Amino acid sequence: MAILVTGGAGYIGSHTCIELLQKGHDIVVIDNFSNSKQEALRRVSRITGKTFPIYAVDLLQKRDIQKVFAAHPIDAVVHFAGLKAVGESALFPLRYFQNNVTGTVNLCHVMMEFNVKRLVFSSSATVYGATGQMPLREDAAVHAINPYGRTKLMIEEILADVYAANPDWSIVLLRYFNPIGAHESGEIGEDPNGVPNNLLPYMAQVAIGNRQQLSIYGGDYETKDGTGVRDYIHVVDLATGHLKALERTVHIPGVHTYNLGTGNGYSVLEMVAAFEGASGRSIPYIITNRRPGDAAVCYADPRKAKQELGWQAMRGVERMCMDTWRWQVKNPHGYERSRISAKHLSHPLSELSLQK
Ligand code: NAD
Ligand code: UDP
Repeated sequence: MAILVTGGAGYIGSHTCIELLQKGHDIVVIDNFSNSKQEALRRVSRITGKTFPIYAVDLLQKRDIQKVFAAHPIDAVVHFAGLKAVGESALFPLRYFQNNVTGTVNLCHVMMEFNVKRLVFSSSATVYGATGQMPLREDAAVHAINPYGRTKLMIEEILADVYAANPDWSIVLLRYFNPIGAHESGEIGEDPNGVPNNLLPYMAQVAIGNRQQLSIYGGDYETKDGTGVRDYIHVVDLATGHLKALERTVHIPGVHTYNLGTGNGYSVLEMVAAFEGASGRSIPYIITNRRPGDAAVCYADPRKAKQELGWQAMRGVERMCMDTWRWQVKNPHGYERSRISAKHLSHPLSELSLQK
């Protein structure tokens, strides 16, 4: 299949590009690089030994999206592009609604225009709100509690309306739980801007000595050890979930919703222990106040994805921590100042900037 990957330079997008290329799919990547580096795609190219077209395109520029569709026959779209920082979304809600919601509406308009009817969308477990019954099934009540979550919920609803009006479309909504880890090569991984919001990148920066200590947000939850419990999933398992969604469901018209999680909950303290084991470093921490909006516990019921997609997560938390650590050690400052320089890469990218 020829697949357009929006946000393909990002954390999950770049790992999915590798899996798509290794399965023999053709890909075209668009990204505005607002939260990613071209270097990630150079490394995708190097790991897979394949080149592919990349366009520096913002989804808010509909004419640029049209140019990409005009230049390439596309069978399906995997849509990762979006802003994802919960705290930032509360400070700049309009930016989030415009970027995520308007960007998706623009994309769908162009898909309609070019008769492309297959879409896989990156949704999130955040659409379940903070109070659902565990494990969360896809038919649990949805309720967003911040602007970021509302963009995901709105997009899910918009896509359901698109399908209702166009019953030959096939739309897959993938609700991710907590993606962590990195490609086993240690060449690509999560490269947050500034201070990481999420547990694993923060912990990795403490372990490598870039930050002093981890703050654990809350030690008085009603959980096994008082700290928050989450369903961590290896980013490569998540990536293969997209392949299964594309290979199976995307041929069947409808709106198909799947949780991508492992079904296992780990507490923050368990993750600290797992990361210490993987890295051989101790992770100093203090227990501080709860972070507003955090759920005590959140984990998936992943059975629907297993039954209908034939997909299940294969990698455990030890592997997730080991791969995160390998990426962190090889790239202590992320892509920008890593040891591997772009000029040493053997597979140059076909870079194509659209002229306005
Ligand atoms: P990321 O920020 O690493 O990747 C998103 C990519 O989209 C970036 O490369 C960014 O530059 C690009 N982008 C953003 N706005 C754009 C626009 N208007 N036009 C073109 N490109 C744009 O994030 P990620 O962790 O890879 O997440 C991918 C998707 O999965 C996002 O939609 C995110 O909301 C969703 N998601 C992520 C998580 C997580 O914990 N990482 C959890 C659930 C859902
Ligand atoms: N967490 C923490 N310290 C941090 C970051 C996160 O204790 O610096 C906790 C957080 O309260 C939650 C878990 O780690 O219980 C996972 O948080 P993360 O932000 O990674 O993902 P979320 O599930 O909140 O999207």
